[in-house]
Amino acid sequence: MDKKLKEKIEKKFAFSMGLNQYREIERLIFEIGKRQNKPPAEVISSLKTKKGFEGKNIFFALKNTLLRYRFPLTYDRPGFKKENVFLSQVKKPLNDNWKVSGKFKPVKIFLEKETENSYLITNLKKKFSGSETRRIPSLKKHQQGNNFRIAELKKPEIFITNEIEDFIKPCPCTKHHLRCGYWIFNLGFGCPFDCSYCFLQQYTNSAGIVLPANLERFFDSFNHLEKKLKKPIRIGTGEFSDSLALDDITEYSLQLIPYFREKKVFFEFKTKSNNIQNILKSKPSPNIIISWSLNPQTIIAGQEKGTASLNQRLNAASKAQKAGFRVGFHFDPIIYYSGWEKEYRALTEKLYQRLRPPFAWISLGTLRCNRALKSIAEQRFPQSNIFYGELLLGKDKKLRYPLFLRKKIYAKILKWIGKFDQKTPIYLCMEDNQIWKTCKTLNAPANLLHPKACQTKLTKMPPF
Ligand code: SF4
Repeated sequence: MDKKLKEKIEKKFAFSMGLNQYREIERLIFEIGKRQNKPPAEVISSLKTKKGFEGKNIFFALKNTLLRYRFPLTYDRPGFKKENVFLSQVKKPLNDNWKVSGKFKPVKIFLEKETENSYLITNLKKKFSGSETRRIPSLKKHQQGNNFRIAELKKPEIFITNEIEDFIKPCPCTKHHLRCGYWIFNLGFGCPFDCSYCFLQQYTNSAGIVLPANLERFFDSFNHLEKKLKKPIRIGTGEFSDSLALDDITEYSLQLIPYFREKKVFFEFKTKSNNIQNILKSKPSPNIIISWSLNPQTIIAGQEKGTASLNQRLNAASKAQKAGFRVGFHFDPIIYYSGWEKEYRALTEKLYQRLRPPFAWISLGTLRCNRALKSIAEQRFPQSNIFYGELLLGKDKKLRYPLFLRKKIYAKILKWIGKFDQKTPIYLCMEDNQIWKTCKTLNAPANLLHPKACQTKLTKMPPF
């Protein structure tokens, strides 16, 4: 607790606060300061004292004033509810946080004994001959014996594992929101990149990147699932890792493409890299999709550490498309900030200048996160301001922009896309029925799909 700050507030407003009250006020002042680029003391000085309030009422009057500054677009709207404002204790930045810089180079390679003779170990030893290699009984036991701290998340370590379960699963989406029927091919966990909004930060109990060496078990598992499938599905590796960031090392794509080419699925590699050498060595197939997450360069530079620039991503996409691959794009997470409109419009124009539609699909999704992630990101990315936007708790208890703002964002982006492209199927990621219905009534491209229709329509595209 910052005692001086507390005293300053209490003196200025002539009341005394309990600990919980102070935490809420401190959080609001901190976030207003972040938004306005002012230190907390300056935020307090800029506030006017109001007459006629006493005791507890001073706290509520002050809190309301601060909420109005904190949520200038939303506070006076009818749907604004104070209980949807997330006011946690302010977290200090970590002073020993591992940072991502330059090309990924593991300092340690841990291997489960069954993987010793795998091609992955041979590749790693060849590429990183200076890295220490250590045998472990199992990843699980190794994790149990290590007290993981979030500051170590990006420690450059690799775990080569022999997976025995959880090969494939349906995407869980989020409560009370519309599912698009996507499946996760769970090949690896962790990422050499470091995005401030990455949900893996609150989803992990170990540093480093897990790379399974036994792809054959994954393929066996898919063969088993395939027998039960009544229609084609969409499936991909980009949920718990970036599909291609380490593909020069793992060479997964060289095995995944020939395998899935023969299957009745749409297999997606989702990436923020330009690591497509192995893709270009492979024979394209209409059911193999290479997709890129896109954001304006301002967001890439500030929030997506270690990833390829926007130009690099579009160049890679163009090369893949010219080589005969179908490409897709994800505007996700779309971030609302001063200048967002100009930059996302320029991004859309650039995409269509550089690539030829129709694409396999485009998804749109605005920034969302759960409460734990915001606290972690605050400690790991103190320079980032994205979580101090107008984010409120939704039905699923995740922080997201309010409905009117999401509607405005989607309406604009759909309009910009519609100027160039009426054919690419577009869907909204992790959205509710209300927003989908609203978007449908806007001047949206004809091909905006209801998330439930993704299951049927996206999987009816050629070749199936
Ligand atoms: S690229 Fe994806 S998996 Fe990697 S850090 Fe960014 S959001 Fe997370």
